[in-house]
Amino acid sequence: MSEKHEIIIIGGGPAGYTAAIYAARANLKPILFQGMQPGGQLTTTTDVENFPGFPDGIMGPDLMLQMQAQAKRFGCELINSTVTAVDLTPNNFTVTVGDEQHQTESLIIATGANPRLLGLPAEKELMGYGVSTCATCDGAFFRDQNIAVIGGGDSACEEAIFLTKFGKKVYLIHRRDELRASKIMQERVLNHEKIEVIWNSQLIEVIGDKENGVQSIKLFNKKEESESQLDMQAVFIAIGHIPNSQLFTDSLSLDENGYIVTKPDLTATNVPGVFACGDVQDHVWRQAITAAGSGCMAAIAAERWLESMA
Ligand code: NAP
Repeated sequence: MSEKHEIIIIGGGPAGYTAAIYAARANLKPILFQGMQPGGQLTTTTDVENFPGFPDGIMGPDLMLQMQAQAKRFGCELINSTVTAVDLTPNNFTVTVGDEQHQTESLIIATGANPRLLGLPAEKELMGYGVSTCATCDGAFFRDQNIAVIGGGDSACEEAIFLTKFGKKVYLIHRRDELRASKIMQERVLNHEKIEVIWNSQLIEVIGDKENGVQSIKLFNKKEESESQLDMQAVFIAIGHIPNSQLFTDSLSLDENGYIVTKPDLTATNVPGVFACGDVQDHVWRQAITAAGSGCMAAIAAERWLESMA
């Protein structure tokens, strides 16, 4: 067992790195476990045009490298290892990484969430090249083009409505004959002149390549048992997210979808000294900038908590 740390951060995305910058600048000597593939969801996007400070945009992976460099500059130790277990016994928090155990007085959880995917090969091959899981990030690249949104929940409806700002036409493709989204979102979608809902249909193939982007999609209509092909330049998958909270199912309060519950407008969890920030606790905003903001909040909250315990 190594010496007891003042603060450990788990998660290498905008929330974790921002928490690291603040904690390091507060002389808390944080260590941050960033997993084997650091950078979080932004490493799967290309241009990021909505992160303030980069008027010409920045590539997602580059933005993450800059955040890492900034955290390192103030002395945060970044470790490319995946946390395998966490014990949140009060006054004795222990973070396990393989055979190693690290004790800490406070813990910031910034483990993020992953978009739920359909399991099609194109989701890996063309992610960032016409296939996307974030309309806010990538919608503007598809002006006057045909855009498909997959899903029937609030996220899919919200993305479809947002994408009408750019697309020539937006197709909402849903596997059933009824939307799961709230009534108000349903109405907005169904009454929107630019949106066409394609019911009872499953996306089965995305046709395209990295050079030319998405060209078309193939759908399977479950009711009619028929296939069709549609001219399409972008596909947004919006079938929900899976928060990376599996390590905490026995120790923290999670909501019914697995998100860590934090006190309203705060990052404090139900265990004093444990803070959560970014997409693992936020199913509403889910932006790099809001994740970074909540990472800042978590670090300041942890610093104040440590002071109150001194
Ligand atoms: P969701 O409510 O779980 O909806 C997921 C949608 O994706 C459902 O329509 C589901 O179909 C479909 N789906 C799931 N797996 C699929 C698959 N393998 N193939 C095809 N379709 C699939 O997720 P969400 O829309 O991300 O919303 C999550 C939570 O955040 C909800 O509580 C939502 O209300 C909330 N939210 C709120 C707002 C807002 O208020 N502005 C915005 C976004 C999200 P079925 O319907 O057939 O199951």
